[in-house]
Amino acid sequence: MCSEENTFHPLRILLISDHADPLAEIGSKEAGGQNIYVFYLARFLSRLGIYVDVYTRWDRKNKKEVIKINSHFRVIRVEAGPKRYIPRDNFLDVLDEFVKNILKRVKKEKINYDIIHSNYWFSGLAGLKIKKKIKKHLPLVHVYHSIGQVRFNALKNYKLQDVNNELFKIREKSEKEIAQNADAIVATSPVDKNNISKFFKIGKEKIKVITIGIDKKIFRPINEKRAKKLVRFRGEAKNILYVGRIEWRKGIGTLIYALKKIVKYYPNTKLYVIGGGKSKSARKLEEAELERLQKIAAELQVENNIIFLGAKKQKHLCRYYSASDVCVVPSYYEPFGIVPVESMACGTPVIASRTGGLKYSVIDGKTGYLAEPRNYNDLANKIIEVLKKGKDFYKSNCLERIDKNFIWEKIAKKYQTYFNQLIEKDK
Ligand code: UDP
Repeated sequence: MCSEENTFHPLRILLISDHADPLAEIGSKEAGGQNIYVFYLARFLSRLGIYVDVYTRWDRKNKKEVIKINSHFRVIRVEAGPKRYIPRDNFLDVLDEFVKNILKRVKKEKINYDIIHSNYWFSGLAGLKIKKKIKKHLPLVHVYHSIGQVRFNALKNYKLQDVNNELFKIREKSEKEIAQNADAIVATSPVDKNNISKFFKIGKEKIKVITIGIDKKIFRPINEKRAKKLVRFRGEAKNILYVGRIEWRKGIGTLIYALKKIVKYYPNTKLYVIGGGKSKSARKLEEAELERLQKIAAELQVENNIIFLGAKKQKHLCRYYSASDVCVVPSYYEPFGIVPVESMACGTPVIASRTGGLKYSVIDGKTGYLAEPRNYNDLANKIIEVLKKGKDFYKSNCLERIDKNFIWEKIAKKYQTYFNQLIEKDK
């Protein structure tokens, strides 16, 4: 048996992340969880001596083609379409070129990969095509990040969803094809596993739950007083934090409605909103949502209780989490959600919508609470409950939850063992 202790030659992973460059600017419209996930997965696998090449679309002229992060981890930008931003939904137009250029490099460098790991459905399709072209049998391991049908079902109650849209139909068909033809699927939570099995009608034995994680060096509790000083939060105020993209489905609008109720109890409440693009093009994409949110805040007369801080570097986020009384993730749909995990790792309780992976990461009543999506009354009540009890009531449960389940070192080892099992099965 091959085990992680006696792997004979170092594993080599061909990791595909079509639109999500692991080194992209985070906080902008289409850069977030997946970029972070791919970066940390590759980094922590590389620390175990595994070689990882992350292939992603070359989306800006001034980006380098190949970046070597360390001796085992490279990010390789692949020419596919123009070297500028194109909406993620247009990826199909450049998929064949993307695949062709990955294969070209593999051939040129004579790289002998052992596993293909694909992220999101475009990469899954790319993975299937690459698998067919390479002589050696390479197990394909796929992570969905988001499932079309689940997203549709979650959002249809709130906003008209176009199920007849041509792309949606292709996505549904492709996601099924990936489920049936990949060698293994990694689900990021048990909720995700059930959805994958149900929607794609595949046996649960093909699906392995491996969660996302955090880097303990970056996300750790720091002294609250010190943190408040560092980020200039007022000591006497109740501080509520939102971290993530400025996008409708993230539910910031609902949170602003909840804030109206909260300020009746705690007039001195501040809601800090972190996120948003730095570049001009990224800012433009979210301008409309930002304007809508500011309008709601003005109408509800809570505009002085909200501070939009813009995007922050990930390495500084632990200061904001540690300085806050509670972190809120009010999404209408969230396949996994890294933010709640980061917050809990800093000892700060989370109020999250009862949807997707949030139902798994947040333990209702222990590490925070789950609230009904888009129900601002329920959201406000749960936030008030945490503010009343104080964050110390939840702190040790939060830290324990993270230590047990969401540390990258442990997750990377789980992946390593799983990769070795898949290779062994093939022999
Ligand atoms: N993030 C960041 N700076 C910001 C806003 C967000 O580094 O200004 C990071 C955040 O720490 C988290 C990720 O972006 O790791 C968001 O991931 P999540 O899964 O919560 O949401 P998604 O972007 O996938 O919708």
